[in-house]
Amino acid sequence: MFGIRAGKAFDGDKVVPGGALVLVEDGRISAVASASAPAPDHCDILEVPDGTILPGLVDAHVHLCADGTDGTLDRIGEPSPDGLMDVIEQSLRLHLAAGVTTVRDLGDRRFAVLEWRSSSRSRGVYPSVVAAGPPITSPGGHCANMGGEATGTEQLLAAVRERAERGVDVVKIMASGGFATAGTQVMLCQFTLDEVRAVVGEAHAAGLPVTAHAHGLPAVHMAMEAGVDGIEHCSFLTDRGLSQSAQDLARLAEAAIAVCPTVGFVGTLRPPPNAAATLAKTGLTFEQMIQARKRSVAEMHAAGVRVVSGSDGGIGASKPHGLLPVSAAFLVDAGVRTVAALASATALAAAACGLGDRRGRLRAGYDADLLVVDGDPVADIAALTRPVAVFAAGRRAA
Ligand SMILES: [Zn+2]
Repeated sequence: MFGIRAGKAFDGDKVVPGGALVLVEDGRISAVASASAPAPDHCDILEVPDGTILPGLVDAHVHLCADGTDGTLDRIGEPSPDGLMDVIEQSLRLHLAAGVTTVRDLGDRRFAVLEWRSSSRSRGVYPSVVAAGPPITSPGGHCANMGGEATGTEQLLAAVRERAERGVDVVKIMASGGFATAGTQVMLCQFTLDEVRAVVGEAHAAGLPVTAHAHGLPAVHMAMEAGVDGIEHCSFLTDRGLSQSAQDLARLAEAAIAVCPTVGFVGTLRPPPNAAATLAKTGLTFEQMIQARKRSVAEMHAAGVRVVSGSDGGIGASKPHGLLPVSAAFLVDAGVRTVAALASATALAAAACGLGDRRGRLRAGYDADLLVVDGDPVADIAALTRPVAVFAAGRRAA
């Protein structure tokens, strides 16, 4: 058994007044006591009086097979199988170093992430991986080179069944084209409503949630109509810019759909050619689009939509692995309260990943996925970028 005593604490949805003493045994949190509580006999305690303890962060949208360089999604099929395993491990190490103890991979190359997860290589100290396998997409569609092309209801149902058999945790479908794939139409749907409905029905019958990548307004509407559990990006994009109505937000909130806006970036965001072309069509500058996204996520949050944190980490130099603290800061910058932004990066994201009963909270019985940061992220969200110690299932990251 060991413990961590921190001057401040955030439990996944609220501040714990006065900090906390968190005790860990066999990879689980055995108790969360007041910071002034005496330590049990023979129990090592990490003392962090000027720090904050919180649940390890959960990044609900990453691409572990992508190496964080520009153009990596175009080259995703290039590494050898062994090379791909190395990329996956390096991606995970970067997440862990940033305090991320659970990731949801939504863009596997074939089933490399699932293969890594079931191999002996995954026994080290890594974040837990929730996996979708290759996103289901149309022939030549968004991220088709990941290996998830399917057309027509029969193939779509077979694709869901294959993923279920291989042990995925969630099914991802590309409802619209994407910025990163040349030749795809971001504003248009890649499938019919009946097809997406069939995918959702088959996945739910297998006990799997479905999350849909959707930029264009028609794809967002189609995803809602089809009964998906989550929407990635959810950009409400039209030729005239973002078109996010109060009615649509109410519908997202009512259906409790987890929206992962994949915001936040570092350095200079260099839009891939397809993104630049799409932007030009809307008449917005890049800066205007970023401001529009800020208003969008703030309105979503205010409307009661379940906004969960995800970074799209790995897809480019401005979207590296380990970006999640920056994604959370983007929410705060947009006007979301820090406590709500922290919840979206912990308890809410864990729930969206299907792990709400064991991760994302400081609570006895939960997995000891813990992050200790220097300072107080509730007062200043930037403290989230200063990890002091990270534990994955009770094991300290090097
Ligand atoms: Zn993505």
